[in-house]
This record gives sequence, structure tokens and C-alpha cells, in this order.
Amino acid sequence: MPISDSSATAVDAAFDAAVSARIAEVRERMDAAMARGGHGQPVTLIAVTKTHGPEAVLAAWRAGVLDVGENRVQEAEAKMDVVHEPVRWHLIGHLQRNKAKAAVRFSLVHGMDSLRLAQALDAAALAAGTTLDVLLQVNVSGEESKSGLALGEVAAMVEQLHDCRQLRVMGAMTMAPFDAPESQLRQVFAGARQVRTQLQQAGHPAPWLSMGMSGDFEVAIEEGATHVRLGSILFGSRT
Ligand SMILES: *Cc1c(COP(=O)(O)O)cnc(C)c1O
Repeated sequence: MPISDSSATAVDAAFDAAVSARIAEVRERMDAAMARGGHGQPVTLIAVTKTHGPEAVLAAWRAGVLDVGENRVQEAEAKMDVVHEPVRWHLIGHLQRNKAKAAVRFSLVHGMDSLRLAQALDAAALAAGTTLDVLLQVNVSGEESKSGLALGEVAAMVEQLHDCRQLRVMGAMTMAPFDAPESQLRQVFAGARQVRTQLQQAGHPAPWLSMGMSGDFEVAIEEGATHVRLGSILFGSRT
């Protein structure tokens, strides 16, 4: 038996089995949180594969996960080039305007956090002859280290977004402070839910709420998250 072949297969199988088991466990916890939260919303698990190779994308796919999240355009594009399974690619990180062109390769852009970026994304979508699904990222906690639009700027932004005809504003995205107490997490997540309501009232479709990471996804789901972005809980800690 050729050693290299069999060992490569064995490593893949073990990695796949580990990822698959973690996904099954996480899905159970998601279901329980949905039942507790009482919002009745479907929740999409986005496997965040940043810093991991294409094998992480494939392991998630084989375990039934259709959505993958990346926070850097270049790293995502490298994986897109070698992964041919029809996963939905989510751009979850901060995006610079000069990279807006690349955004049209993603099925959802989570980090739209300024009018200037929205206009760049709109122009990129127009040039590509397509429409682009985006989320408005809001900084509910006001932490300086976090990107996202300040809550006080949301009202003007939801109106200005109507001029971006190639964008479909599908909802709000937020990140809670790391290791915050549960009461603060709930406050942050409820704040993002309120922004989604503002978007809806202004006539945007906005069915979605992207919030919740490995450390806080259950609280996020209880508060109405429709998309959770999970990395380390599925693939181990990033070095
Ligand atoms: C890295 C990242 C995640 C995943 O974080 P984990 O704590 O590893 O689950 C989610 N959202 C964003 C925006 C990220 O950058």
C-alpha cells in the first residue's frame, strides 16, 4: 500500500470526523437555543474558516454546512480557487473600499459599515451587472476597537442606502464585546435587532440578523440571530 496515499486519507478522515462531530454538537445547542428564544426564526450556521486551509471548508461541506465565512478577501479568493463545491461564501470582516470589486464574488457581505463603502459596493455591483446582498454592521457597544456604524448614524444611513440601487440590504450584523456578561450581550444583540427593525421600517427587505460567535452564539440565537458565525468551536483555536 502506498504510504503517502493512505496516510493522507487517514488524516483527512480523522479531521472530517472531528469537524463533523463538533458540528453535530453545535447544531444541538443551536436547536435548544432556538426553542428557548421563542423568536421562531431559522438559523444558518456559517463555518468561519479563516486561517484554516481549504480542507476546513470541505470538511464543513461534507458535514452538511453550506455557508462559509472568511474575513479577508485574498485568503477567501485563494480558497474559492480550489474549492469547487457550491458553498455560499460570506465576507464577514472589515472591507476596504479599494477591495469592493472583489465583494461581488461573495453571496453576502456582512461588514458594510459606512456610506462610502456602500457606494463603492454599489458601483462594483453595477459594473459587474449584478446585485449584491449586504448587511449593515453596527457597533452597538460603542467600543472603539470595533468596526461598525454608530447607532446614532443609523437613521440617516437607512435612508441614504435607498440610493444604492444595486444593493439589497438584508439586515444587520454586529459583534458583541469579548467576554461580556450575559446582560450586556443581550443588550448588544437587542440593539442590532432594533436596527433591523429600522431597516425594515424604511422599506429594506432586512430579514436577517448576523450575530453570535463561538463564545456567545446561544445568547445571540435567543435574541433572534438568523446567522451565527462560528470558527474556533468548530476548527479549534487559531494560532
Ligand atoms: C473570526 C470571526 C468570527 C468567528 O469567531 P470565533 O470566536 O472563532 O467563533 C465571527 N465573526 C467575525 C466577524 C470574525 O472575524
